Amino acid sequence: MAAILLLFVGRGVCEDGLGYTDTPRLPNSPWRVHDRQRPQPPMVEPAAKAGEQPVAPPSDALMLFDGKDLSQWEGGDPKGIEDGCINILKTGQIQTKRHFGDCQLHVEWATPTKAENNMIWGNSGVFMLGKHELQIIESHDSKIYADGIAAAVYGQTPPLVNAARKPGQWQSFDIVFTAPQFDGDKLLKPAYFTVFWNGVLVQNHTASLGPTRHREVATYDSRETTGPILLQQHGSAVRFRNIWVRDLKPEQPRPIEKKK
Ligand code: MG
Repeated sequence: MAAILLLFVGRGVCEDGLGYTDTPRLPNSPWRVHDRQRPQPPMVEPAAKAGEQPVAPPSDALMLFDGKDLSQWEGGDPKGIEDGCINILKTGQIQTKRHFGDCQLHVEWATPTKAENNMIWGNSGVFMLGKHELQIIESHDSKIYADGIAAAVYGQTPPLVNAARKPGQWQSFDIVFTAPQFDGDKLLKPAYFTVFWNGVLVQNHTASLGPTRHREVATYDSRETTGPILLQQHGSAVRFRNIWVRDLKPEQPRPIEKKK
């Protein structure tokens, strides 16, 4: 708890790490960003072994990490690969060399077995387009505001349920991400997340309000429709293994029927 206190001291209203009362309201929502009143999603126990067993990629997937090297990534120290896993605290933040738009992403991750004393336990994250965070954090034995727990579209939408496994256990995200679409400066379609956490549906075609913000409402201040997949280093020794991705063709906008 001391670590959480340290992180939030000075921000006025979040000394216990459980949320804020002075942040702006989210659009079309009764809740504020990181609202301390927002209910926690109910806990759901995933099926036996779901998320714990490595899931092999289908034939058309691009392997991003198979336990050996960081050749698909940039920005990482290869000495951070330990026992076939990425230790993100040691590699540092990494992002894919290739850029993706619409895609299906499989990621296996594990939080440390014990809380560390320098930052929130198990904090990391998967950033689509390098900007839209699907949160990773210890969410079985540790608490944070609802829109900050694992599988939250951070600062926006908590998961439908909390399907966390215990600290140190392997867990999985299967993410279907569709990139935003723009016509010049105009947003035609936001980004969407559909996510299975340890086999449990936790985000069901959830629109992203824009690139991730802390204590602020996200907006589309960037027009990018492709970008890297980024794994966040946030001061905790979160491990990753078996990461693969499938490119999806963007849905073509339907031609508008002309009125006769
Ligand atoms: Mg994070």
